[in-house]
Amino acid sequence: MKERIKPWAYFLALLLLTLLLVKLPAIASNGDKPTLPALQVHPLPPELVDLGISLENRSFPGDDGSDYFAQVQSSPLGHLVWSRFPVTVAVDYPPALTPGSAAQKRYYTWQQAIKTAIADWQSVFPLTIVENTTEADIAIFYREPPLSRTVDPETGLVSFGRARTAQASYEFYWTDTSPPQLRHRMAIAIKPGLAPLSLQGTARHELGHALGIWGHSDREEDALYPAQTADVPAISPRDLRTLYRIYQQPTRLGWPAPVTD
Ligand SMILES: [Zn+2]
Repeated sequence: MKERIKPWAYFLALLLLTLLLVKLPAIASNGDKPTLPALQVHPLPPELVDLGISLENRSFPGDDGSDYFAQVQSSPLGHLVWSRFPVTVAVDYPPALTPGSAAQKRYYTWQQAIKTAIADWQSVFPLTIVENTTEADIAIFYREPPLSRTVDPETGLVSFGRARTAQASYEFYWTDTSPPQLRHRMAIAIKPGLAPLSLQGTARHELGHALGIWGHSDREEDALYPAQTADVPAISPRDLRTLYRIYQQPTRLGWPAPVTD
């Protein structure tokens, strides 16, 4: 008897976008407070110029010219666009994996799926892999995302949401250059132990958030659809159109603080 593929629809909401770890930039409190840069549009890297041309020419199969830009949220500091290219991404390596162990094998399955998802985005976006998760623009961690936690305002009872497979979060920081620059970095947690295709779809989805698509598509065929489907979607023309529109938006990120007297 044939086994049916387990429908992943049960894991609805597992890929929910969260804003949990959003922090406003820490600004030194002694006198020299940088003021926020003005909202400005960054110039596009050649890869995104090319992407724009391909979209204009409808070069991607199945492109109906639509996008889901209306669902994308801007951060408190503007859209989450990168402006230094290539954007760097590092994949976590957990300590102490015994060679040849099941744990090591599970990790390599995870790592391979993540690298495949990175390669998928690299075909349209300047993204490069680096070693160190603390120095990368985007760090991908081998761990369970935290449970979502809500407190009932009337009873004070705490309840925990369902376990998620992945979570993307961002934070802002000032560089210690003069003048300081306002930047962001992204952290993605992806649960160990999922099936390879599911991991790949999850990583593709979370990387979409990390590249700036801070929102979800309402169509199952897009990588940024918020639930896993039986057919793990590839990066779609709608994902690409949405990404491209985001990079036309102004942001305070990636600009130096205005110099004041
Ligand atoms: Zn999501």
